[in-house]
Formats: sequence, structure tokens, C-alpha cells
Amino acid sequence: MAVSRVPVGQPLFWILGIPVHVSIWHLLTLLFFFQRSFEQGVAFGLTMLFAASASVFLHEMGHALTSRHFGLQPTVVLTGFGGFTAHQPARRPRDEFLVVAAGPAMNFLLAAVLFGVATGVLPEGGDIGFAHSLLSEVIFLNIFWGIYNLLPIMPLDGGQILRVTLRRFVKKSLTADRWTHRVGLVLGALMALLFAVQFHSVFGAVLLGLAAFENYRALKNVNEMDADFRADRPHPRVGELLRQARTAFEAKDFEAAMRFCHQARAEPELSPAEVRHTWHILAISAANLGDLDDAIRFAERVPNSPEMAQVQASCLMSLADASRIRVFLRSPAALLLASERLEELKELIRDSDA
Ligand SMILES: [Zn+2]
Repeated sequence: MAVSRVPVGQPLFWILGIPVHVSIWHLLTLLFFFQRSFEQGVAFGLTMLFAASASVFLHEMGHALTSRHFGLQPTVVLTGFGGFTAHQPARRPRDEFLVVAAGPAMNFLLAAVLFGVATGVLPEGGDIGFAHSLLSEVIFLNIFWGIYNLLPIMPLDGGQILRVTLRRFVKKSLTADRWTHRVGLVLGALMALLFAVQFHSVFGAVLLGLAAFENYRALKNVNEMDADFRADRPHPRVGELLRQARTAFEAKDFEAAMRFCHQARAEPELSPAEVRHTWHILAISAANLGDLDDAIRFAERVPNSPEMAQVQASCLMSLADASRIRVFLRSPAALLLASERLEELKELIRDSDA
């Protein structure tokens, strides 16, 4: 996964100038998944565990090295669900596409190299049997991880590729987002069912079910935002200002977006939807400009919005203020966060207690 989110705490290590954070859940989840490898001996099990972690890690390094190439300051985080690479937002859609695609590409490349080693270098039979069965498991693992991540379900890499591609061909980015989340919702639900019934994988089913649910919430958000735009405007000046704000916002000119929003807010007769919409743009713009306190303040004005809860969480993580995070975790907004993000916040508090 490649996301525009800033992780916190101390990295476990740095590699090629990229900080790498490792959650204890990463190890525990891998242990859970590869416990059966230990039936073939401790050495096999441990090697398999290491190889699986390395495969996830190299996937993230694909994202990280590409985003570093574009100057986006990546950070790699290995978690229970695999991993993600946080980085600054890409400047061009093409860059975003390449950053996202580089993760699965790394897995396929690794599988191809290992296949070459298995068929070309290693002789057949004898003591080599161990290496052969290990290699074939790791090759399978990398192909699986590459394909799984390419499922066009947000927030997986495939979902992000779908979104950036649709945005390229559909004029209105809200329409592109709406279709991305529709696909994510339907396919996520179907895949969750497939994992439960066909593969008997509760973990996979829950993960994909959660992804489907996130797409459902995002879809509701997009629809709400779009309705704001289409609403009849008895007050044309407000409509014009909001249109300009939206255009500036989409062009990532956050200062202009904020200026238009503040001007719109100074106008009388804003509908509740328009008010909500200005807070929305203000919060994300302020966060992008690094005005974290303002961003949190603006985001708090939009209740029941998962995206705004996410903005609050990201800003609080960057501020690394444990007491404010505690207050946030007790607020209703915390309920809207994905469980993975909640865990990160809780981990940050634990780090500060330690
Ligand atoms: Zn990825």
C-alpha cells in the first residue's frame, strides 16, 4: 500500500535513507500465518517467516524507492496487515501511478528472480530439497502478494491505480472517485465472500469486508460532497466562491483554496451543506500546508466524517501530543477511524508512556 500518511515514533532502522518502522503485530501475524511451516522443522519455519517478512518489506521498498525518486520523503511501516509506505502527496498523476505500481512490481520481479535461481542454479534432489520447497513457497507468496495488492479495492494498490487512472480519463474527479469506491464496495464484498467460503480464511474475509465497508463510507462522503455542488444556489456569489475554492483545491493550490473558503464563509446565507463543505476543504488544505492545529480545528467542525477523523488523526500523530491523542480517542470521531489507524494512535501513546 502507498498512502499519504505520516507515521510516528522511532524507526527500527534506516535503509538507503528511508526510515523503517516495524510493529510487533507484523511478527505476530506472520507467526500466525506460517505456523504450519514449522511442521517441516524449525529452520524451515524461521526461514519462511523471514522470507515472508522480506517479501512484504521489498514490496514497500518498491513504493518507497520510487517515491524517494520523486522527492516525496517516504517512510516504510510494517504492520499486522502487511505494510504501508507513507509519503508526501505525488505532484503528478503519473508519479502517483508509478509509486503505487512499484510495490506489486517488486513482488513479481522477486518471484521471477527466485524462479530463475530455482530452475537455473540449483541442482535437483538430495540436500537441495529443502531449498527447492522453500523457494517455491516464497515464489508463490510473492505472486500471491502482488496479485492481492492489485485487487482494484481501495485502499489496496489496485484501488489506488484504478482511482488515478479514472481521474485521468474522467473529467470530474468526484465521478472518478465515486466509481473507484463503487468497484471497491462490490468487489470487496464479493472477495470477502470468496475468502470465507472458498479459502476458509476468516482473516482474509474480515480484511476485505472492512475494505468494502470503508469504500461504502467513502462513497457516501463523495455523494454528499457532490450534492453540495448541485444544490440550488439562491446566493450565486457563494456558489461561485465555492467553485473557485474547489478548483484551487483540486489543483493543490491550498492557499488559494483556503482564501476562497474564508471569503465564502464571510457571505451570509450559507446552507449547512456548504458550511460543511468549506470546513472540509479548509481542514485538508491546512493539513497540506502544515498548519496542523488549524487543520484539526477545522476537521472537528465536520462531525460523522471518516475523512475528517482521518485528518485529525494524521495531524495529531505528526504533533505527537499524547494528551491530545487521548482526548481524541475518547471522542466519537475516533469511532470512524479504521482499526489499523486506531492501533497506530494507541501505539504512539504507549511509546510516550514508555
Ligand atoms: Zn503496496
